[in-house]
Amino acid sequence: MNLNTIVEVKRPGSIEEVEWRDGHAWLGGGTWLFSEPQVATDTLVDLESFGWPALTATPRGLEIAATCKIAELHAFKGPPAWRAIPLIRDCIDAFLMSFKIWNAATVGGNICMSLPAGAMVSLTSALEGVCTLWPRMGGPREIPVADFVTGNHMNVLQKGELLRSIHLPASALSRRYAMRQASLTHLGRSAALIVGTAGDNGEDFLLTVSAATPRPVQLRFKKIPAATELRQAIDERLPAESWFEDVHGSAPYKRHITRYYAEQIRAELA
Ligand SMILES: Cc1cc2nc3c(=O)[nH]c(=O)nc-3n(C[C@H](O)[C@H](O)[C@H](O)COP(=O)(O)OP(=O)(O)OC[C@H]3O[C@@H](n4cnc5c(N)ncnc54)[C@H](O)[C@@H]3O)c2cc1C
Repeated sequence: MNLNTIVEVKRPGSIEEVEWRDGHAWLGGGTWLFSEPQVATDTLVDLESFGWPALTATPRGLEIAATCKIAELHAFKGPPAWRAIPLIRDCIDAFLMSFKIWNAATVGGNICMSLPAGAMVSLTSALEGVCTLWPRMGGPREIPVADFVTGNHMNVLQKGELLRSIHLPASALSRRYAMRQASLTHLGRSAALIVGTAGDNGEDFLLTVSAATPRPVQLRFKKIPAATELRQAIDERLPAESWFEDVHGSAPYKRHITRYYAEQIRAELA
């Protein structure tokens, strides 16, 4: 779509060159920005011009630049010790995408959209990702992805604040995992995307519920719980009004499928 309110596209070399004002919008891949009218926006600030390296793997973990394309992340192959790397591809494959979105959309753009079916939100929260944010004033701040998203299309970003990168710790990348995803239609938007991770001996079991809820919800157990304990924890943490109801699934359906898949994940990791 042509955005007929845009009068300028800025391509700064560094953040210091950006003088933010109302009407500015950060431009990631533009797949959402260009998909509907942006009447309040007159200037796009293209993040690609910062030239950040897409992916940086170190012994500490994986640094994903906000500008990393979904296709670049899909192609990433980490060291064998990072056993959760295939989860990257599992989550990306769960993301309903055209060829254009696949090659243009950025990881940061997907997280900043903060949609319940944001596959990069599911992935990075399940792998205990931490966002680095660049506020307009003051130094960088860090926040776990699971706390970054606060609701359907809502997050903690302040006006003009930038998501710079997401760090996935090596400790999370090295864990065992199991994942389940459901859509009402073949290749449809996720109604539920559930991930469980655990240590080798079943210690520190982390269940991340996404798509079925407006924002990711995490349940942590010292060791893999019994089926009844897990079911009870889900019901306590997610009462009837907590489920995200939309055309991609009713709230009771999403609750049902979450309980069903959570049990499969628990059994698989046990
Ligand atoms: C047909 C279609 C289907 C879609 N299906 C899905 C889906 O199933 N799930 C889903 O999650 N999304 C979906 N989307 C929405 C969108 O395409 C994706 O979320 C995509 O990943 C957004 O990434 P982008 O880089 O293109 O973001 P952009 O369009 O560039 O930006 C999206 C928003 O985030 C802001 N932004 C981007 N990067 C940053 C940053 N680093 N810091 C701060 N703000 C930033 C932008 O200003 C804008 O408000 C769909 C879109 C279309 C058109």
